[in-house]
Amino acid sequence: MGGTFDPIHFGHLVAAEEALVQFNLDRVIFMPTGEPARKTHLDVTQAEDRYLMAVIATASHPDFEVSRMEIDRPGPTYTVDTLRALRNIHGKMADLYFITGADAVWEMLTWKDAEEFEDLCTFIAATRPGYDLDAARQEHADALARLRIEFIEVPALAISSTDIRQRVGERRPIRYLTPESVVAYIKKHRLYQEAY
Ligand code: ATP
Ligand code: MG
Repeated sequence: MGGTFDPIHFGHLVAAEEALVQFNLDRVIFMPTGEPARKTHLDVTQAEDRYLMAVIATASHPDFEVSRMEIDRPGPTYTVDTLRALRNIHGKMADLYFITGADAVWEMLTWKDAEEFEDLCTFIAATRPGYDLDAARQEHADALARLRIEFIEVPALAISSTDIRQRVGERRPIRYLTPESVVAYIKKHRLYQEAY
């Protein structure tokens, strides 16, 4: 599961858990991006903070882990490089899935070397209950023809990192949107204090 994770929250964690169970995965690897190629706002939180929050949020789950692969790779992050690297590490027999929100999955075709995605992984796209999948399928027929995409329903989809950052900036509560350890980390390191 790739993402900025700025910060990680229960939406990510619930989506990962659903994917793990519904697809009988061995594990979920959370992969915080290094320098995101597509997020232009200059003030993405330091990779080390985003990585550590992902670690503390997932520490108690036996099948969740966090990888430093993207944050340690120099230069902008491209998902295709990560998928190629995972394919090399795990071999051609491994089933690789890329877990994402349904909103993000439709953009994948515009990502670097997207034509390779079909051979590298299957996408698992999280949708909100009530999401009009039929309408989305019609609208994005091109993506469905060129990527392997499976859909799962995730109840916590209304949570976003943007909202959490905004809430912290406005001194509104974030408890129950992300694990308590992440709430404490944000407070201790005074993250997201300036208004977004
Ligand atoms: P931001 O608001 O900064 O864009 P975000 O909450 O979307 O942050 P990202 O780190 O951008 O979090 O997301 C990582 C991945 O998780 C993306 O594929 C995104 O679509 C997905 N995702 C984000 N929020 C949820 C959620 N509530 N439920 C399921 N998937 C989510
Ligand atoms: Mg996002």
